[in-house]
Amino acid sequence: MQIILLGPPGAGKGTQAAVLSATLKIPHISTGDIFRAHIKGGTNLGVLAKRYIDSGKLVPDDVTTDIVASRLNEEDCASGFIMDGFPRTIPQARMFDEMLERLGKKVEVVINITVEDSIIVKRLSGRRMCSCGRTYHIDNNPPKTEGVCDVCNRSLYIRDDDKEETIKERLKIYHKQTSPLVDYYQGKGLTMNFDGSKPIEVTTREILDSLKKTD
Ligand code: AMP
Repeated sequence: MQIILLGPPGAGKGTQAAVLSATLKIPHISTGDIFRAHIKGGTNLGVLAKRYIDSGKLVPDDVTTDIVASRLNEEDCASGFIMDGFPRTIPQARMFDEMLERLGKKVEVVINITVEDSIIVKRLSGRRMCSCGRTYHIDNNPPKTEGVCDVCNRSLYIRDDDKEETIKERLKIYHKQTSPLVDYYQGKGLTMNFDGSKPIEVTTREILDSLKKTD
């Protein structure tokens, strides 16, 4: 199944994607995670991406779509994927459609998770990450031991772009450039809307129930 997760930063896309990926046994592809891995590894792409990410801006469309194109060629994507954080602009969505068409595939479901801006600011400033890809929140989803990942025991960290000023810039960009994708996919009859302000497990259940109905 080819699934896209849409929604503002902090809507819970990464958290939901991890559960859906394990349940549906398809890979979770996060362009943000791919960029962060390049930044950590000090690659040329990482140096370029960091300039945009740290200021809350989007990495240019051509760079981002190239990364997705090569990721989709990997074997584990044969039976589908969950895209988290891509596409983020209308040009990216169009390029993605073309890319999938060449592979004889198409987007099947778009899961749109909505959350109010005021809640997002609170959520992102309490967010804690692990390099294994898991995400926590100091109040809503705390790890068993403070500052340590439940699963791999590594130390949690705060993303550089989860600072309040950068969060506001990311939200501005979301409303201007990414939210038009809700209508883009609605026009294709693919968008399903979910309230991301509910507890994580409730949203997960609602998403899984809706996916079952599309089978
Ligand atoms: P995320 O982890 O999805 O919140 O992404 C973190 C940052 O990576 C974003 O704020 C952007 O700077 C960059 N990024 C991730 N995905 C994309 C994308 N599809 N297009 C452009 N920039 C992206």
